[in-house]
Amino acid sequence: MKLVWVHGITCCGNTHSFLNYEYLDSLLKKIDILYHPSLSVEEGNVLDAILEEKIKLDVLIVEGAVSKEDEKIKKLCHLADFVIAVGNCACYGNIPALTKADVGGLQFRFKIKGGLLGEDFVSRGGYPVINLSGCPAHPDWIVGVLLSLYNGEKLELDQWNRPKTFYSSLTHWGCTRNEYFEWKIEMEKLGSKKGCLFYYFGCRGPMTYSSCNRILWNGVNSKTRAGTPCFGCTEFDFPRIGLFETKLFAGLPVELPIGVSKRGYIMLAGIAKTFAPERLKLED
Ligand code: SF4
Ligand code: SF4
Repeated sequence: MKLVWVHGITCCGNTHSFLNYEYLDSLLKKIDILYHPSLSVEEGNVLDAILEEKIKLDVLIVEGAVSKEDEKIKKLCHLADFVIAVGNCACYGNIPALTKADVGGLQFRFKIKGGLLGEDFVSRGGYPVINLSGCPAHPDWIVGVLLSLYNGEKLELDQWNRPKTFYSSLTHWGCTRNEYFEWKIEMEKLGSKKGCLFYYFGCRGPMTYSSCNRILWNGVNSKTRAGTPCFGCTEFDFPRIGLFETKLFAGLPVELPIGVSKRGYIMLAGIAKTFAPERLKLED
């Protein structure tokens, strides 16, 4: 499978994430990277040959936000069987799009469909842009999708064009702090081993679709395990102002966990805090 990886406006964080994949050598036996801006010595010949349709392109990965003027990336997208937007910038625009109206993602600009390619774009292989959101995307998500395409497996995408395999569970699932969440016991200071970060420290785990706490990073850790809030980096509205604080109104979080009603939250939160077990007392 022939792959080209190109950069838009990017910090290259997804490249770093990809290079951190544990079994890269065995992946490279299946996937032929024709060009990658950080790994290849020369650019011109390969990309020109693809643009002239002398080389067939199976997969194009775009990392970084894109300008509406970027005709080269647009043309490459139309020539590839499958197009993958890796990282939140390529998916939705992210930081580079905050101040520039003509910059966005490949098929979205934040939550608006369209982007560089337009909302109706479908690649030669029959998919819209496959979005691997995240800041960065986890290496297992990138490789998992590449191997599915390599094996001819069908991908199911969600409403944001993300593969459901990796984006249908919340960061909250598998978090080691769930018991503190249930009993409404907040962490006292960042980095502590005990307590939940939802109530004051802005944790987006219950509103963010990612598998970070199920597959972990580097196989060992995640933000919430390390005592830092989930910033919701896989969602279209990332980044937000005030990443370390929970916005409150009349003492209640402005945004509640997905599927929880305000009435239900008020009833359960009061009871939970009152009857929290002694063993959950906050002493690290
Ligand atoms: S720290 Fe975040 S992800 Fe973990 S239980 Fe609390 S709200 Fe959920
Ligand atoms: S824990 Fe949250 S902010 Fe961190 S990588 Fe996962 S989704 Fe992104």
